[in-house]
Amino acid sequence: MKALVKARAERGLWIEDVPEPEMGINDVKIRVLATGICGTDLHIYEWDAWAQKTIPVPLVIGHEFVGEIAAVGSNVTDFHVGDRVSGEGHVVCGRCRNCLAGRRHLCAHTQGVGVNRAGAFAEYIVLPMTNIWRHDHGIDLDVAAIFDPFGNAVHTALAFPVLGEDVLVTGAGPIGIMAAAVARHAGARHVVITDLNPYRRELAVKAAHVTRAIDPRETTLEQVQHELGMQEGFDVGLEMSGNANAFRDMIGAMSHGGKISMLGIPSPSEMSIDWSKVIFNQLTLRGIYGREMYETWYKMTVMLQSGLDLSKVITHRLPWTEFETGFDAMRSGNSGKVVLDWSN
Ligand code: NAD
Ligand code: ZN
Repeated sequence: MKALVKARAERGLWIEDVPEPEMGINDVKIRVLATGICGTDLHIYEWDAWAQKTIPVPLVIGHEFVGEIAAVGSNVTDFHVGDRVSGEGHVVCGRCRNCLAGRRHLCAHTQGVGVNRAGAFAEYIVLPMTNIWRHDHGIDLDVAAIFDPFGNAVHTALAFPVLGEDVLVTGAGPIGIMAAAVARHAGARHVVITDLNPYRRELAVKAAHVTRAIDPRETTLEQVQHELGMQEGFDVGLEMSGNANAFRDMIGAMSHGGKISMLGIPSPSEMSIDWSKVIFNQLTLRGIYGREMYETWYKMTVMLQSGLDLSKVITHRLPWTEFETGFDAMRSGNSGKVVLDWSN
């Protein structure tokens, strides 16, 4: 089968012919129809320090996808050939304390699809049946392809109640924009998003109907709070940039008792913050990794069915053979989600 392979320990990604993945009795084999490009894929392409110490080469990469079941193992009874499905990108151990308690997103032995094991940028992918999510009828194919990052957004945005609250999102990347849209949908009063990139601020307004999209170098959060008539500060913060300045601004802009969920991955050396603000203002910080299995997936589906519209978050749709153009768009920063079509 054709696949996009990290074939060598150097910058790049290559189209190769590789054997179809083998199936075990508990596995599901999926014909891939569409994939999303994640920032992680870009790190792997660029072969940065993280990729060098993490990715075994050669490896078929990619983890955001939708497809159709092509075959099921002999133990699999509740999925059928032809079902439209996506895969949860974290394969958990199933045996640790958290897994056994049903808190599978907290498994300490998580394997990443397209990171530690063969991924979805291929004609076929095989996953354990416990990693399969069957889509309801009526879920748009391209949106189904980005359920993985959409799930990051939902997990982060709903980590704390947002109904009636003022929400600050730092970073208007695709996930920040989806999180802003979710916070809106879930009943937040004001949703303010920050980004340095004007393309992305504009996209946040169009795709998520945020109250304000600001450049933090030009407008301070204090100014926005004043303009919007907010009493004290933001109630909920969603850190989606991985940028230390953005996080510092957020810490300073929260009301007392404010709650922050953090998805963005910072560089540890840059992340110095004023801890006294966390303590005296009694802030709650919560790290978010992946999606809750499968409560997040359930909520994603229900929000789409109740009117959440993510169609504008996808800005590029390309045949998979034009993946270089897709990676270029991601690299430029002037994109939302980039979706590759694998249907023919
Ligand atoms: P992205 O890189 O596309 O978006 C980050 C955005 O932050 C960019 O638009 C950038 O311009 C903006 N930014 C940079 N400096 C800023 C500043 N000072 N103030 C405001 N905005 C600033 O990333 P994404 O795909 O949307 O993902 C968001 C973050 O979540 C990334 O850090 C990514 O690594 C991380 N992530 C974490 C998980 C997890 O499970 N924890 C999963 C996926 C992604
Ligand atoms: Zn486990």
